[in-house]
Amino acid sequence: MNIKSDKVCYFCAQNIKEIDYKDAELLRNFISAQAKIMPRKRSYLCAKHQRHLATAIKRARFMALLPFTSR
Ligand SMILES: [Zn+2]
Repeated sequence: MNIKSDKVCYFCAQNIKEIDYKDAELLRNFISAQAKIMPRKRSYLCAKHQRHLATAIKRARFMALLPFTSR
């Protein structure tokens, strides 16, 4: 999946309104090597989706689908 080169918000482009926290494969594209949530500069998401993404990632971490840290 080539998300980063796209300057348009990925979720708007895909017409995704609710980000599924269970879709770890997708969320993984928006976390850095240090397991941090990508800043908007890197993720190119709109404010609404960046906020939803952060919530989804936090939920995914709680459900042990994503790591809290890289170690
Ligand atoms: Zn968006």
